[in-house]
Amino acid sequence: MAFKEELLDIAGYEKVVKVTEEESGLEAIIAIHNTTLGPGLGGTRIYPYDTFDEALTDALRLSKGMTYKSAIAQVGLGGAKSVIISDQKNKTPEKLKAFGEAVDRLQGNYICAEDVGCSPMDVETILEKTKYACGVHDLRGSGNPAAFTAHGTYLGILSVLQELEGNTSLEGKTVAIQGIGNVGKRLAERLFWSGAKLIISDVNTDVIEHFAHEYDAQVVSPDEVLFVECDVLAPCAMGGIINQDTIPKLNCRAIAGAANNQLLKPVDADHLRERGILYAPDFVLNAGGLINVMCELSAEGYNATTARNNLKQIYHQLLQIYEIAQQNGISTHQAAVSLADHRIEKKIGKRSEPLCFPFAASAT
Ligand code: NAD
Repeated sequence: MAFKEELLDIAGYEKVVKVTEEESGLEAIIAIHNTTLGPGLGGTRIYPYDTFDEALTDALRLSKGMTYKSAIAQVGLGGAKSVIISDQKNKTPEKLKAFGEAVDRLQGNYICAEDVGCSPMDVETILEKTKYACGVHDLRGSGNPAAFTAHGTYLGILSVLQELEGNTSLEGKTVAIQGIGNVGKRLAERLFWSGAKLIISDVNTDVIEHFAHEYDAQVVSPDEVLFVECDVLAPCAMGGIINQDTIPKLNCRAIAGAANNQLLKPVDADHLRERGILYAPDFVLNAGGLINVMCELSAEGYNATTARNNLKQIYHQLLQIYEIAQQNGISTHQAAVSLADHRIEKKIGKRSEPLCFPFAASAT
């Protein structure tokens, strides 16, 4: 293979490498933000970015986010992410294998997984060239993370109720869910069976009516869902939806959803605080998938019960974050970032045992 690797000098990042491989047409970026607490784990996004700079911005932003997510989840991992610049049509096995080789060259400092545009089957192809990949649907793997993310989101909703009401009862509480996709529909089921009233919305109207009938949910349009009167708003679709335009119109007591990067800007968390809306920071609440996949790399091997039990910490981490925010008069987002910074600085939760890679034998 005709590899070309170029190290990009980016302040605040441990290693950012641009990888190209001529024969397969691979063009990728692997960004390792911080490995203080353990090797950097983060998904591989495969997307036809218009420019290299756009791809780089995404890799940098996402890898830094993984550092914070891992530090709070205390999984003994650092933060990293990769992007392959490609559309789905040109996502060839050769390209994925070349990417696998590039990952392998980093000798475990970076571990990749599925992400937007990169399916568990793609990860299986990557595994042909490196053992440093995880999250496939093999019996040794941790499978689809959505159920775990949904359960973590559910625990996050319980945490805001505990904070607001002093108990976690969902009986009669109204939860509005934006996005009834992989995570949202599993979350809705759990909430229904816990006694909540549901308001749901999705741009995909085909599936939503049937779902609404099954769970006696009120359907509202995608334009309305953020602004309906409810106890908890659970964004489970897209990022950037909490911003200066939407915050004044919100009609909820708390926000607790799985969507990544819900705040358009960090300052939006301050505006939520000013409005008295409790915000469960997304990168704390949606760590269920990460906690689940981590289990795959443990010495005991993957076990769903262990993964489920490990998720309980999400609830407790969130309560701790609300307390830090309260005591310091800061937003919950700022409290979560400060807690993560503190853990990284003091090396709290640093990995002491080496990771075990269940697919070690498949790499050639
Ligand atoms: P998904 O694509 O399966 O579901 C998203 C749903 O939102 C789709 O049904 C889509 O039609 C709908 N949607 C899109 N735009 C909308 C809009 N404006 N209004 C209403 N609905 C809209 O994705 P998912 O796996 O369920 O993930 C949901 C969110 O959670 C994403 O932001 C994702 O990054 C985040 N997340 C997911 C996981 C996971 O394990 N799947 C882990 C961490 C974070």
